[in-house]
Amino acid sequence: MAPHNDSTEVVEERATTMVADAENKPISTIVIIIAMQTEALPLVTKFQLSEDHDSLFPKGVPWVRYYGVYKDLNLNVIWPGKDPLLGVDSVGTISASLVTYASIQALKPDLIINAGTAGGFKAKETCIGDVYLASDVAFHDRRIPIPVFDQYGIGARKTFSTPNLLKELNLKIGKLSTGDSLDMSPQDEASIIANDAAVKDMEGAAVAYVADLLSVPVIFVKAVTDIVDGDKPTAEEFLQNLVAVTTALDQAVTRVLDFISGKCVSEL
Ligand code: SAH
Repeated sequence: MAPHNDSTEVVEERATTMVADAENKPISTIVIIIAMQTEALPLVTKFQLSEDHDSLFPKGVPWVRYYGVYKDLNLNVIWPGKDPLLGVDSVGTISASLVTYASIQALKPDLIINAGTAGGFKAKETCIGDVYLASDVAFHDRRIPIPVFDQYGIGARKTFSTPNLLKELNLKIGKLSTGDSLDMSPQDEASIIANDAAVKDMEGAAVAYVADLLSVPVIFVKAVTDIVDGDKPTAEEFLQNLVAVTTALDQAVTRVLDFISGKCVSEL
């Protein structure tokens, strides 16, 4: 009988080979996580996606999947839906984490794209309508002033590197800071500065956390709706620019998909 070798080394080698295989085969299944309906619907229309009425998700949750094929890509736009009690978009880190987890479990994507709007900082020369790829993500509202827990709270991590995509699409690159508030308290502001962020959102670092746990590469495409350190109130500026900026987001995501089509993860 052949020797039965299940040493840790062999198991690790097998795992590495599996990751390498995944990286070397063309990307096929993509999950696009989008927090707001206004951001999601233009993509759904453009790619003629269908709503999944026989949901992959647990019964009763508001999460919505739109799916279809674009070029050689199986697209899944996942929107956490409307809050069951209040009827507004389920924005923020909790819903984003849950739908990321459930989508990875159900769809086993090769790549996740978290697309959405964000606030920008004029101190970082960010303008309304700019579209960013995030180089790093971190949280700015999880303060735990105990050694090591402080770093866990901030949860800073580098994102999956896509040098060819960045070069080809000529998008801006910058750090993304995530928190569960649209406005910015002085404490948040200090953390955002410490995080060296160019853009601020309410989902990115949460999506990154879950995708990292489950070893799925994720990229962040964020279009700027408001300038946080400008002179207009954020909520007003956000609503004023949302529809126009969503068009810029939609175009950027399309260019990203065109670039990805036919490529392996390692070629991004
Ligand atoms: N009143 C809005 C609330 C949306 S919350 C409504 O029409 O329902 C803002 C959403 O846009 C979040 O998904 C967040 O990721 C993003 N966003 C845009 N600008 C932001 C900012 N300045 N700070 C945090 N998130 C922002």
